[in-house]
Amino acid sequence: MRLPRAPAYKRAVADLAVVCDFDGTATVLDIGDEISRHFCGTDYLALQKKLFLEGKLTTRAIIQSIYTPVRAPEAEVIAFALTAAKIRPGFVELVAAARDRGAPFFLASGGLRQYVEAVLAAHLPADLREHVRIRANLAEFSPEGLRVSYPTDAESRAAGCHVCGSCKRVVVAEARRTGAKYVIGIGDGFADRCLAQFADQTYALEDSYLHGYCREQRMACIPFTELYEAAEAVRSFTPAAERPRER
Ligand SMILES: [Mg+2]
Repeated sequence: MRLPRAPAYKRAVADLAVVCDFDGTATVLDIGDEISRHFCGTDYLALQKKLFLEGKLTTRAIIQSIYTPVRAPEAEVIAFALTAAKIRPGFVELVAAARDRGAPFFLASGGLRQYVEAVLAAHLPADLREHVRIRANLAEFSPEGLRVSYPTDAESRAAGCHVCGSCKRVVVAEARRTGAKYVIGIGDGFADRCLAQFADQTYALEDSYLHGYCREQRMACIPFTELYEAAEAVRSFTPAAERPRER
């Protein structure tokens, strides 16, 4: 379903904000996993996932470990990321819907800022790219291996999360500081568990890790395969004063 372009206008107060994951949500494939598979090997990546599922690696630790053996220079890794990235249908419309109603749009990624920026620059028109605020981890490339740093680690710990590194609850809090009374969270993976807990409404990729987690925790979520429905929800969102009381 293609959405008609709504007339551009800005509300005086941003009543709504969107916090959206990148890998496997904005994109069809998880680019971080693809980088790890390509540069470190399928068996290496599978071992890291196994260790995570066994509880031997935290979210923070696996975000580092999948990249540790990457010795390729930044340009080579980014060039590969651009070939692996396919944007999920509806993502461009989702950003446009947020931009058109003046709703802040945070791209909150446990991935690496360098490839997130490159992929967005390649797939979003400049006026939409300007509307996206990227919150992601940082890669330091070197011949000894890739090191990840977590820009909001201290803030994440202060907010009560010791496992994510850059926890998405920090981004939800930042979204609320813009004045948003209602935050829509959209994701698919284990790094989106805190996003689902702190957002007011969650969209979870159908049959993803996050979808299963929400079911297990009896947390409400809206499953998606494309992002057109979320775009329409942003476009037609009604501010709290006009909305019937929830729960
Ligand atoms: Mg993801």
